[in-house]
Amino acid sequence: MGAPFFRSPDALLQDLGITEPEELDVRAIAQHCGATILYKPLEGCAARITGNEDRAIIAIDSNSRIERQRFSAGHELGHWMFDRGKMSLFSCEEKIFLKEWSSTNPETRANRYASDLLMPVTMFKPRAKAFTRMDFDTAKSLAKTFTTSLTATAIRLVEHGPLPAMLICSSASGIQWSVRGDGGKTLWAQAPGPNTYAYDILHDLEDDASGDVDASAWFDHPVAEGSYIHEHSIRSYQGLVLSLLWWRDEAMLIKLDEYEEERAARRSDSWPR
Ligand SMILES: [Zn+2]
Repeated sequence: MGAPFFRSPDALLQDLGITEPEELDVRAIAQHCGATILYKPLEGCAARITGNEDRAIIAIDSNSRIERQRFSAGHELGHWMFDRGKMSLFSCEEKIFLKEWSSTNPETRANRYASDLLMPVTMFKPRAKAFTRMDFDTAKSLAKTFTTSLTATAIRLVEHGPLPAMLICSSASGIQWSVRGDGGKTLWAQAPGPNTYAYDILHDLEDDASGDVDASAWFDHPVAEGSYIHEHSIRSYQGLVLSLLWWRDEAMLIKLDEYEEERAARRSDSWPR
């Protein structure tokens, strides 16, 4: 039994004839889906949704920034689409929007929905393509176009931008989460070492720093030896540092593909016959 009520972000945009970022009025979109958005000061959460089978009320914290409010609204609309009937109430804290990206649960799904709604790939990709750097300046510029938060936009950039890249969130205790584009799917970053810009920010030497770094400062992997990557790191909330790593020259990623292929071949050779 599928839920006939469910509308994907793309379907909604088509319903409403929305084709430009400035037309992405999340309040009107929610109303179209039977969910009324109210803005008021909230205690202890960024947004919440209450609803029955047909109608929902989404409350958004009016004290948060407009970018956050929009994303929260998209996120709650995601709950309304996916978790309708199962939910009597979702109350979503701000930290969810920052952390729930790498696992699979209702919060990740709601974040994904918000992202697809507020930064539709068909609008995002062509605009991202105009940039030649996968850094936070690019992310900021796109965030302004879509009125979205820097973190959500940087994730989108990594997934749909013109060059292979990764977004890594670290704290003093190590990597908190990371989002990887297609090119680096088999690379896992290690806690940022002294030769990274993220390290300088974690040690309060800088707030915002960028440049070329030795890939082995981030990746404990044979293909990282002797390769350089671009890094832009910035201070985020609550002791967290966000780093965008990207490759202009894809030689290292080509080496990575070859390495993985060889390893797979070796593995199948050693299978007992
Ligand atoms: Zn939620």
